[in-house]
Amino acid sequence: MLKRTHDCGAIRAAQVGQTVIVNGWVHRRRDHGGLIFIDLRDRSGLVQAVFASKHVDLHIQASQLRAEYVVAIEGKVVERSPGTVNKELPTGEVEIAAEKLEILNAAKTPPIEVADARTEPDEMVRLKYRYIDLRKDKMRENLILRHKVIKAMSDYLDNDGFLEIETPFLTKSTPEGARDYLVPSRVNPGRFYALPQSPQLFKQILMVAGLEKYFQVVRCFRDEDLRADRQPEFTQLDLEMSFVEEEDIIGLIESLMKHTLDALEKDIDLYRGKLIPRISLPFPRLTWEEAMGRFGTDKPDTRFGLELADLTGLTRAVEFKVFREAPMVKGINIKGGAKFSRSELDGLEAAAKSFGAKGMAWIAISAEGLKSPIAKFFKPEEVNAIVERMRGETGDVLIFAADQPKVVHQVLGELRLKLGEKLNLIDRNSFHFLWVTGFPLLEYSETEKRWVSNHHPFTAPHGSWDGIEERFLKDPASIKAQAYDFILNGTEIGGGSIRVHRPDVQAKIFKLLNLSEEETKRRFGFFLEALEYGAPPHGGIALGLDRLVMLLAGMESIRDVIAFPKTQAALCPLSGAPDTVDPRQLKELKIKCL
Ligand code: ASP
Repeated sequence: MLKRTHDCGAIRAAQVGQTVIVNGWVHRRRDHGGLIFIDLRDRSGLVQAVFASKHVDLHIQASQLRAEYVVAIEGKVVERSPGTVNKELPTGEVEIAAEKLEILNAAKTPPIEVADARTEPDEMVRLKYRYIDLRKDKMRENLILRHKVIKAMSDYLDNDGFLEIETPFLTKSTPEGARDYLVPSRVNPGRFYALPQSPQLFKQILMVAGLEKYFQVVRCFRDEDLRADRQPEFTQLDLEMSFVEEEDIIGLIESLMKHTLDALEKDIDLYRGKLIPRISLPFPRLTWEEAMGRFGTDKPDTRFGLELADLTGLTRAVEFKVFREAPMVKGINIKGGAKFSRSELDGLEAAAKSFGAKGMAWIAISAEGLKSPIAKFFKPEEVNAIVERMRGETGDVLIFAADQPKVVHQVLGELRLKLGEKLNLIDRNSFHFLWVTGFPLLEYSETEKRWVSNHHPFTAPHGSWDGIEERFLKDPASIKAQAYDFILNGTEIGGGSIRVHRPDVQAKIFKLLNLSEEETKRRFGFFLEALEYGAPPHGGIALGLDRLVMLLAGMESIRDVIAFPKTQAALCPLSGAPDTVDPRQLKELKIKCL
């Protein structure tokens, strides 16, 4: 084989006159009668090689080349004539005058045209032929970016005294709110391992073991209904530290992000066109109450306004019964929204209903006065007070939701996002990192008819631990957690907490969550026992790497930053997984399919 002396993308005017060998894939072939031009591609980029007709055999050989053939070309680097310089390409001032060609492998006509950056084939095709899809610049650059993010983070943590320690995949259930993936044990028939939803218990046990600073770039498995953009297996940067408080973890992640973004900026040439955010520390913080109150969500996108206005005080005494009797009334002033047509407003109302509202009231403020289907139910001074509270001006439309707080926030939070998109208010080039803190420890699950953990049951409450039972009996909703979520542009990219390190308190919390003693023992006995042998105060966090890299890469789907993702139906079109298995295997496992 003609072994390469240079990467395709590295050939420059400095090599003019030198004989070089390049290896790679035929990106494009252009036949100009006497001359055949080949754009040859390897991971580093493209270089043009020219086959002249005076070398008859070589020319015939080059005419057989097709897209994605794998070849080696030897030739002399020459300057391109001024008219043919390609400014778009780093190698565009030169070309290789080919002298030898070796076809290393042929390729069938590919179902994805690698040289075509504009058209995107159907995703099933992209996933089935992922090895071709990954040859595209966009995908290669995304994977390089992903590698660099992980590398920068690992470097930072290594430097800060963290140890990367692996935790088991074949393990027991770790509750993070999803279903487990189960793996049958052949040698223990009838028993199953669970794949970890996160390394939560093991990382806490590593703290009991005195390792003090742990991290892991780790795959987590959650069997969820794959709504939106989720994957059954995804990657976290998971970490845990001993003798820390909330501030320590938040501060650590802020410095880690700064280091990572600075490192990415240095390699910007490797992922052209990406915008690495410039950040200033500390990141803003919102309490959970503030986030819910102002944005209707615990993961606010603060790249645009349209904040929620609370009118509940004002509406207590109004004539309009729907407002007067609602536990909460909030509104959004859509600046300039009075230009919306009636059918656009009807569309918004339909959206509000799909988010759980019974209806959506609105008031449009036009030069001729107020237009609204509900204005007639109010006294003029009542409407004026609402308009004033919402700073309504001519040209605005005010929309309202009146219901239980949970519904009001859900509806207006979702409508706000929809309006941000519709009105083009979101600056795609800006990156808003922020923290949300002070979450409620528990939330009431209507389906389970009991209080459940908002994060996971290992999260420490604020305030007195000894009085936790009394506090729970008095007002479970008022107990705050020592937990923090890390948000970027309205997406949760991380979350963590300070943990309960006292076994008695942890046992009480399991009890308050309605776990029987027996169940607690079966599921978490080993963990509670570990806490009895000198567990230090500790806390941690996990960042969702796929999401973070997706946002940094400017992609809309995490599938674009994962080499071999699964479809929304949890299938791998490339390998055909999941698959049926040989009856013999099932027999060995003593498993019968229903
Ligand atoms: N185990 C948590 C999660 O996966 C993160 C943490 O609390 O550190 O969300």
